[in-house]
Amino acid sequence: MAAPPRLGPLVLLRRLLDARRGDPRAREDLYHLRGVLNFVLLFAATIGLPGLLLAYYGVAGIRAQRDAGAAQVAHDAEVAADAMSAQVATEFKSFEEQALSRLNTGKSMHSRPSEMSPALRVVYRVDMKNNALAGPFLRGESEVAPDAPWRQSAAWRAAAASEAAGAFGKAASAFGTLAHRAPEPEAQGDALFAHGRCLLRAGDVRSAELTFGEVERNWRAVRTEEGFRLGDLARFKLAEIALARDPSEGSVLLRRLLDSLLAEEWTLGEGGEAAVSRGVLDNLATTPTNPDEIARLRETVDDRQSQLYWAGRLEGEFDSLGAKGRLLKQSPGTFSYRMTESALWAMTWTETDQYIFAFDADILLHHLRGLGAGTLGANADVAVTILAADEDPPRDIRVRRPLARAPQWSIVAYPRDPEALSHRQADDVRRGLGIVLLSVGMIVVGAFLTLRLVRRELDAARAKSDFAANVSHELRSPITQIRLKAEALQLGLADSPEAQARHYDVIVREAERLSRMVDNMLDFAAIERGQKRYNLKPGDLSVTVQNVVETARVAMETRAMTIEESYPEDLPPVWHDPDAVAQVVVNLLSNAAKYGQEAGWIGVVVRVRGDEVLVEVTDRGIGIDPSETQAIFEQYYRSNDPAARRKKGTGIGLTIVKYIMEAHGGSVTVRSTHGVGTTFVLHFPIKRPPGLDRQGA
Ligand code: ADP
Repeated sequence: MAAPPRLGPLVLLRRLLDARRGDPRAREDLYHLRGVLNFVLLFAATIGLPGLLLAYYGVAGIRAQRDAGAAQVAHDAEVAADAMSAQVATEFKSFEEQALSRLNTGKSMHSRPSEMSPALRVVYRVDMKNNALAGPFLRGESEVAPDAPWRQSAAWRAAAASEAAGAFGKAASAFGTLAHRAPEPEAQGDALFAHGRCLLRAGDVRSAELTFGEVERNWRAVRTEEGFRLGDLARFKLAEIALARDPSEGSVLLRRLLDSLLAEEWTLGEGGEAAVSRGVLDNLATTPTNPDEIARLRETVDDRQSQLYWAGRLEGEFDSLGAKGRLLKQSPGTFSYRMTESALWAMTWTETDQYIFAFDADILLHHLRGLGAGTLGANADVAVTILAADEDPPRDIRVRRPLARAPQWSIVAYPRDPEALSHRQADDVRRGLGIVLLSVGMIVVGAFLTLRLVRRELDAARAKSDFAANVSHELRSPITQIRLKAEALQLGLADSPEAQARHYDVIVREAERLSRMVDNMLDFAAIERGQKRYNLKPGDLSVTVQNVVETARVAMETRAMTIEESYPEDLPPVWHDPDAVAQVVVNLLSNAAKYGQEAGWIGVVVRVRGDEVLVEVTDRGIGIDPSETQAIFEQYYRSNDPAARRKKGTGIGLTIVKYIMEAHGGSVTVRSTHGVGTTFVLHFPIKRPPGLDRQGA
């Protein structure tokens, strides 16, 4: 195998010029170079460029994917915040529409405010003309219950004690006296009602009825210490009496009492109206009144009571609101909002009145948050909520939007689990990079393997073409020698018997060389086709080797070479094919002679080592470079060493040696020092080699 041409730019230029001048070697190099260039182009087009593109676009793709991931979160946050804003806006719109629709249809603003919004607690109406507050309740000093000092008098206590002791007749006349004597009208009413009550307990129903009737007519608005209006109490008693007499008559009175209670405004801070309404409802339930009707009335009473409760609770905040906002005039039908500590207030105007709606802040916030929760899937990356001013914000807020109607609150969207999100993104990047790296790695490995394969194929092709040239060369030289010597003999040019003998020697030697070469070539061809068979049988290996050496000795001696031999005393029989082994030894000897001719010495040793018989052929010739000790056994391989290249050869001798040794279940190894000498060692197993398939035994 020839060394590949080293092509720097200058050398290339010179080669180009040489080739133009017709130098066949330069032409060959350029031809070779063209092959290499073609290969490089093919390599770049099919492997290099795709690999680079894959790496470039792979990494770009990963980057884009990561950016897209971040953009997706930002986008999701925007979408979630938008959805939440829309929901909240719809919620307020729906409240405003319902409120306006009530105004337009004349439906009471005060009944069931929670129908307009679940967080709406109470609705106030402000009469703009009189600048007075109106609602389902009254506000002011006029109706405050008296602290009833007359109940502390000795006469009142005595009457109360009689009633407590069960002396109802006595108590009734005592309260009657008090009612006539008392100077204040409140005390008169209070005592007269107690008089009626005791009469009723004493069993004088008729007189009690008359007394309650009088109380109802004249002292209706007087409030007792407990916050009841005497009129309500008296009517309630009258209804109870009627109920005992005739349930349907009683139920009519009870309904009338309840209707008038509900038609009035209840007084803030007093529980009397609510308590009487409940008492009436309880009594109504015992009459044949429709239960649905009772349930509806009960809801109305609850509603009224709840508003009263909330109006009481929010009184302070309502006042602070009034100081700032009540007189802010705006066009009718529009709403303005203001927030206080625990309530959100909505205000709207008609031509004559202002309406003020109080939402409970906590409940409203909770309700609005619930709306947002529905807009996102359970495993969305982004969460959205409404944040009050005094709350801790969640981490990593992506979008924050103040609520139009309650600027202290804002809609915030944020990653539900920022850590998991960033982990997942990092994982995605890692996975993508891994795939790109793996693919590029696979391309590189593939390229490397392809390169090696191509190189090997090129080497083999080259070696084969070298082989053909070498063979013709090898054949020509013995044939030429034989022809020259034979012609000399024929023409009688060798006159002395010594000269004739020398001519015959040459003819015999060259004929042997020729036949050896032909043998090798035929064997090699048979081996290549897989048709070579060996006939192994146990025999004395020393004898086989000795025969070969004897035959070779004559030729060696004419080349002034000596062969030194050594054989063991008693050698165990070795399974071998004597002809094949002879061919092996001949090949080794002729190599030793060829590459070690100058030293003039060859050593042949047969010895036993362990369970092997070794045949060693040693020379003191040019030696083999360590980098080539494997390759020399490959077919057609010839050393790159110039000293070796000067000798003729075909590169198949050692291939045949290796093949035959493997067929014997053995092997061939080489020890060599470059410039010092070489030993080839044949290893034969002593035991019959098992499973031999190539020897045909
Ligand atoms: P060739 O016909 O070239 O001798 P072989 O297969 O017999 O082919 O040998 C292969 C190569 O091994 C040779 O070209 C030579 O370089 C090297 N070689 C073989 N025997 C020896 C030796 N005894 N000393 C040095 N080199 C050797």
